[in-house]
Amino acid sequence: MFLLERTYDVDELTRHNVHTHSVFSKCAKPEMTLDAMIRAAEDFGLRTLAVTDHSDPRDDIDTYGNYLLLKERLAAIDTPVRVLLGAELSAYGIGKYAEPYAVDKALDFASYSHIHYHLDTWDQPADRSPRGYAEHNLAVLNALFDTDRADHITHPFSPCKMPFFDEAQKAQTLSCLTDNELGDILEKGERSGVSWEIHTPTFFRFPAFSRRFFFLGKEVGAHFAVGTDAHTLDALSTQGLAERLRTVLYGTVV
Ligand SMILES: [Zn+2]
Ligand SMILES: [Zn+2]
Repeated sequence: MFLLERTYDVDELTRHNVHTHSVFSKCAKPEMTLDAMIRAAEDFGLRTLAVTDHSDPRDDIDTYGNYLLLKERLAAIDTPVRVLLGAELSAYGIGKYAEPYAVDKALDFASYSHIHYHLDTWDQPADRSPRGYAEHNLAVLNALFDTDRADHITHPFSPCKMPFFDEAQKAQTLSCLTDNELGDILEKGERSGVSWEIHTPTFFRFPAFSRRFFFLGKEVGAHFAVGTDAHTLDALSTQGLAERLRTVLYGTVV
């Protein structure tokens, strides 16, 4: 289900941050309490804050229990920010999901990762070449879009979690995807009701692919949403990102 309007205006896109981690993610800083995150979001002028804590395959995290705790806390907080309580869920193989369907559906925001290949609980493709990983990414997303589990795809196609590849091989996992393959999967995602993340760390690291991804998405009418992958309060801010995204997308500040 789409939780944000369709837009390709980077000023509008950067008024929302849909990828953030609270203290329920082990990698987040202790300052990332829900209260502090919401106050920071207000200070930074965000209209939407989605909290997306990790939910890894075979972990010891109680995703639904944490959601209920955050929900209870949120009820006591008065804020103009639209707060979505979700999770960074795991499509860790073709048709493999870490949480029961009912949990995905109970969350405000089911954000799905399909690229956490650095985890030893994640399926690896039989073909371990960059093209093998690209095809695996497509197959996992295709299977996911045959369900209605996902509201959002976080860091789509990002090779950042492939520690076994050097920088050139990482870039190759992206450049080997054809426009047709990308257009088709973007279209299928749109029909399935998912938005695609403009994951700013990946966008700035792989600008050529990000440009292609964004404009193909625009061509097929895909929904996008910005996420900074914040693990600290400062990283919740999207200030300055519109200019940097304009440079990536249009090569100049317009
Ligand atoms: Zn992630
Ligand atoms: Zn994350």
